Amino acid sequence: LNRRLAGFGTTVFAEMSALAVRTGSINLGQGFPDTDGPEQVREAAVRALREGRGNQYPPGPGVPELRTAIAGHQRRFHGLEYDPDTEVLVTAGATEAIAAALLALVEPGDEVIALEPYYDSYAACVAMAGGTRVPVTLRPSPGPGPAYRLDLDELRDAVTGRTRLILLNTPHNPTGTVLTREELTAIAELAVERDLLVVTDEVYEHLVFDGEHIPIASLPGMRERTVSISSAGKTFSFTGWKVGWVTGTPELVSAVRSAKQYLTYVSAGPFQYAVAEALALPDSYYTALREDLRAKRDLLAGGLEAAGFTVHRPAGTYFVTTDIRPLGESDGVAFCRALPERCGVVAVPNAVFYDHAAEGAHFVRFAFCKREEVLREAVERLGALS
Ligand code: PMP
Ligand code: GLN
Repeated sequence: LNRRLAGFGTTVFAEMSALAVRTGSINLGQGFPDTDGPEQVREAAVRALREGRGNQYPPGPGVPELRTAIAGHQRRFHGLEYDPDTEVLVTAGATEAIAAALLALVEPGDEVIALEPYYDSYAACVAMAGGTRVPVTLRPSPGPGPAYRLDLDELRDAVTGRTRLILLNTPHNPTGTVLTREELTAIAELAVERDLLVVTDEVYEHLVFDGEHIPIASLPGMRERTVSISSAGKTFSFTGWKVGWVTGTPELVSAVRSAKQYLTYVSAGPFQYAVAEALALPDSYYTALREDLRAKRDLLAGGLEAAGFTVHRPAGTYFVTTDIRPLGESDGVAFCRALPERCGVVAVPNAVFYDHAAEGAHFVRFAFCKREEVLREAVERLGALS
């Protein structure tokens, strides 16, 4: 492994999911639903396969049906207009979109600001692009209100002459923070003032329980400097399909496409047709998804509180971050390694999402995108911890 990737051996998700399988534990570590997405969308994929749509290399930017559906989704939910031919790119999940965006836009030595704790692929992709990551730490706020907040002064101070872009994620994995309009406006003003690009990972855009998701591309001055990323994995519960997308100006999208061409060339064909149909599902689908997850959030958060954890109740995503110190623990990594033996549950230590490991040492993340009976069983097991 070269020096750029040193330290990025195995993702925590692979490690923890293997641990769950090995110990027969309930896996609340890796974020994937244990129920597949809508039957009609699966049928659409089967139909495409059978009818021979997408079984050979589809067009590089994505099949036109899907690009049109993505543009339609951006208009319908966010009031954002994108030309499906020049301003939309289909990728192999959001993961490839993030990689391709960073590889396309970051020069070696450029600084990339990201909100810490951050999704693990960010650090690896910044490294592969030869960039330097500059973390700005989100910290839990005491008292009522959203769980984690961004310190805007720290963000401003993080910008230097070498800053190329801000890599955002809202709703935020692992904290469940949904950035507010005030925070996003401040970030947007900073980006305009310092002439920065923003790459925004919005894969949890439809999983918001409190507040609202605001795409930063919709704020003044941002459309022309924002690469927006999302994915069908979370919204339609098909994380295995790896269909994601990028929207932005023709210049930005074509830059990302240049990198994508040499990563995967194209993304799997038949699933693209199915996701095009999924995006057109009625509002009731999106509402039901959210309400189902809201109930699960409340179930798991309540159970974790009862078990003695301090819970930073998420406003969005399907993750809940807890503080393990009330349980007399302080090392989340050791806690997560021991948890399967102690009670048959797997979680993820937030420390792995930090550069400043001490900031995140005592936080542990649990996923609640699981069937109700699974969550109930997990809560019961966790209740026996203390
Ligand atoms: N970004 C974030 C914040 C995520 O949580 C995930 C989920 N693994 C991804 C990107 C990757 O999405 P995809 O599975 O579409 O590649
Ligand atoms: N996004 C999911 C998580 O955060 C899964 C990521 C992965 O397996 N790479 O758990």
